[in-house]
Amino acid sequence: MKLGDIQQNPRNLINGRWETGPTTGVSTNPSDTREVVAEYSRADRSQTEQAVRAAADAFPHWSQSTPQRRADVLDCVGSELLARKDELGALLAREEGKTLPEAVAEVARSGQIFKFFAGEALRIQGELMASVRQGVQVDVTREPVGVVGIIAPWNFPFAIPAWKIAPALAYGNTVVFKPAELVPACGWALAEIISRCGLPAGVFNLVMGSGREVGQTLVDHPLVHAISFTGSVSTGDRILRAGTARRAKVQLEMGGKNPLIVLADADLDQAVECALQGSYFSTGQRCTASSRLIVESGIHDAFVGKLRDRLIQLRVGHALDRTTEMGPVVDGHQLEQNLGYVEIARGEGAEHVWGGEQLERSTPGHYMSPALFLAQPDYRIAREEIFGPVACVLRAADYEHALALANDTPFGLCAGICTTSLKRAMHFKRHAAVGMTMVNLPTAGVDFHVPFGGRKESSYGAREQGRYAAEFYTTVKTGYMLA
Ligand code: NAD
Repeated sequence: MKLGDIQQNPRNLINGRWETGPTTGVSTNPSDTREVVAEYSRADRSQTEQAVRAAADAFPHWSQSTPQRRADVLDCVGSELLARKDELGALLAREEGKTLPEAVAEVARSGQIFKFFAGEALRIQGELMASVRQGVQVDVTREPVGVVGIIAPWNFPFAIPAWKIAPALAYGNTVVFKPAELVPACGWALAEIISRCGLPAGVFNLVMGSGREVGQTLVDHPLVHAISFTGSVSTGDRILRAGTARRAKVQLEMGGKNPLIVLADADLDQAVECALQGSYFSTGQRCTASSRLIVESGIHDAFVGKLRDRLIQLRVGHALDRTTEMGPVVDGHQLEQNLGYVEIARGEGAEHVWGGEQLERSTPGHYMSPALFLAQPDYRIAREEIFGPVACVLRAADYEHALALANDTPFGLCAGICTTSLKRAMHFKRHAAVGMTMVNLPTAGVDFHVPFGGRKESSYGAREQGRYAAEFYTTVKTGYMLA
């Protein structure tokens, strides 16, 4: 199917058939709001239930399929994503608003994730143990969990579904996937590729629609054995309560308020690039974005001055324009929220360094300039996740003060440090209360073959990605045998 067909009413995939839903939704281009990207069919509660039943019916057969068969399916999906990365990247840039290079790289990453889990399907391991009893043999084997409900956010519409769907299928589970409402065309394009790679009907299902109806149905359905969710803390909390109340397995990846410490001994240019990349690329719409820049007094003014110079030059514009460095905000609601935080920052007495204004471009879109403030640690812009191109600088007296500020947050996803001191870097890696640390690198930007996730309010349950994905997508069985 050609991408042009995406505008022609993308439908839901239920039990191997493309099904029209009772209502239609629309996604628009945040770089040019006159452009409709997709008019898509929204599934309702009853279609979601049909998808869950189809996945449950398909499970016994698929869970017994050979690793080679599963590897072949995932390899096929990965190959097509890689071959079509430019075309699908353009779709992603149009629907979500990240720049074309960022979008193409995300599609390529998604292809690599499917390829990685194609290999993992062939490497499922168990353990053979000596028993404490004479003549008894013990083994520990991994088995799939069952039907997995996958609920995704809008900010990485290919990569996040990829790092959930690929391991789910690799380990023999069946899937019902719900993309975010702002990015149905991306979710559909991924599903359409998966649908042509040799899966039996019902193994993989797509249901597009609202969180309250489609998402909640997945969370509450007794035949859904595991729920993997990425999104906001408030939605995650609701899913956790409902899912665990009926003893489903739940995995949550949620927000962040990630610190980047800049010590006086840092390479200034490198630190400024880390801050610029981590705070503002992808329009700051990354859970790993560096939204708190904690800067030691000795380098504070030079760092702020240089970052301001870079922000003044940063080209904000249409996501498909090759000269654009920062695309638009995803939608009007998010833009309003970002601008609201700019007002809150001013109201709290934060010192304005640069930006935070709505911008006009040649096409009508949700554009704003990247915002930088000098703040105090108790200001709301220093404590709450904004999920936009709004960062603040906190002044630290020394390294110990900077580390205390970095850990003084309810979140715990990622933390970075820019320093030339190996001693400080090692201490920081050990004492940052997060799931991921970065030294002389932006807080955003991770590998796909190692665990991803955080602590405190940022995450719940087993880590995602890499070999560690098996912790969530499999359950272990212990076998005893008299030898
Ligand atoms: P969101 O929580 O509003 O929505 C996420 C998904 O949950 C969507 O598909 C939505 O339709 C669905 N949903 C909403 N209500 C539901 C309900 N009651 N039951 C079941 N599903 C429901 O988040 P968003 O606005 O799409 O994404 C932005 C948020 O995601 C930010 O807070 C960001 O930090 C977070 N995020 C976290 C990570 C991470 O890995 N930690 C990655 C990306 C985004």
